[in-house]
Amino acid sequence: MVGIAAAGPVDVRTGSTAPLNIPEWRDGFPIVAAVRELFPEADIRFAIDGAALALAEYRVGGLRGVRSGLAMTVSSGIGGGIVSDGRVVFGRTGNAGHVGHIVVPGWDVPCACGGVGCVEAVASGMSSVRWAREQGWPGTSGAELARAAEAGDPIALAALSRAGTALGQAVSSAAATLDIDRVVIGGGFAKSGGPLWEPLRAAVARHARLGFIRELRVLESPITDGATLVGAAALASE
Ligand SMILES: [Zn+2]
Repeated sequence: MVGIAAAGPVDVRTGSTAPLNIPEWRDGFPIVAAVRELFPEADIRFAIDGAALALAEYRVGGLRGVRSGLAMTVSSGIGGGIVSDGRVVFGRTGNAGHVGHIVVPGWDVPCACGGVGCVEAVASGMSSVRWAREQGWPGTSGAELARAAEAGDPIALAALSRAGTALGQAVSSAAATLDIDRVVIGGGFAKSGGPLWEPLRAAVARHARLGFIRELRVLESPITDGATLVGAAALASE
């Protein structure tokens, strides 16, 4: 049994993937066929990385014991996966949970998907670094940006506040759409601490007002590393 968790968009109908950040694969790379060449006898399970992440969080992480929740990753990009009524949701083409492309109000930033104002274009590590550099901050990575904010750099603090607010808006929209009571967020940029999480929680408090999502808890993922790999293994053992 082989589990594949691939960056998306994927197409589970054809077993292919076409990530926005891999130009050579933009026309669709037949990843299942490539893996089958290596393991001709194996039963292959293929999912988008966000669905694998949701499975990992549901089995061993921050969504354990929750019937309906959202797992997100915030790093260079933003992705996610949905658990609804105790099952991971895959969707028609395998791309359910593409929360990085929830449109958030107030920032008309062009997104790599071709749209405008997606939360990934505002709040990912890469987008936050780009914005901070436009304001004159000299660093180059999300980790550096988090350290600069921790040290009180005003541009870094503004960049993380902007990212946290946009993430809180996206989380609130997703929570109302999915009727969930927990969101777990992992990924390198999610480890940016209070300068990211305080504005995120403030935005959730402001936007998630409906009665059925008042109990919503937004937590940092307890899986420190390799959550998607854990999810791929869980896929193979489903
Ligand atoms: Zn987009």
